[in-house]
Amino acid sequence: MNAPWKSTAPVVSSSRISEADLVRDNLDQLSERDVEFATSLLRAYDSERGASEKQAHWLGVMAERVAQKLAKREPEPMVTGHLFERIVEMFDSASLKLKYPKVRGHFRAHGEELPLKLSRAGGGARYPGSINVSDGGPFGENVWYGRIHSDGTFEPNRRINIEEMRALVTYLTKFNTDPESHAKAHGQEYGECCFCARELTDHRSLDAGYGPVCAERYGLAWGE
Ligand SMILES: [Zn+2]
Repeated sequence: MNAPWKSTAPVVSSSRISEADLVRDNLDQLSERDVEFATSLLRAYDSERGASEKQAHWLGVMAERVAQKLAKREPEPMVTGHLFERIVEMFDSASLKLKYPKVRGHFRAHGEELPLKLSRAGGGARYPGSINVSDGGPFGENVWYGRIHSDGTFEPNRRINIEEMRALVTYLTKFNTDPESHAKAHGQEYGECCFCARELTDHRSLDAGYGPVCAERYGLAWGE
């Protein structure tokens, strides 16, 4: 007599079908040994005969392991791999002279010009030396986009719409790569220094888009 697990009739129920797919789609979540075992189970499952009761049971065990692994996995950050080290350097440099260095800017999203303000968190903050990115509105009413940590990594606010966040990250990337151009564009468009918000009067400052004092504080080239 056949052992019960050698039954030739496919015993795979519909719940086993979703388990098989779960395992198939997430083999990389299993250990090397389990991958081998799960692959052989899937082969049996896909065969004309189908999985035996015992194989189906083990497929269920594998699915359980995959599910546990997936549940423990860190949620994937929405915007990853961005390093804004130059921005951190600029703020670190400015903080030697200023208590709360700030940079103003604008970026475009949804066909709109959105205001932006970068401000360095002081010593008493939760992340001292990190840079908060917001719309510059009053505390409690502002839009907080995220923070640049002191190592340059960016922690986005996950509640921000993805399109807006992408536009913001593009903007920050440009600013990080070429802060002089950012400051120049802002100064010439708004007639104010993006760092201290003072009106630009002197023609050399208007040309540069920012003044010599801010240039020195933030470590930027000026008046070459
Ligand atoms: Zn200035």
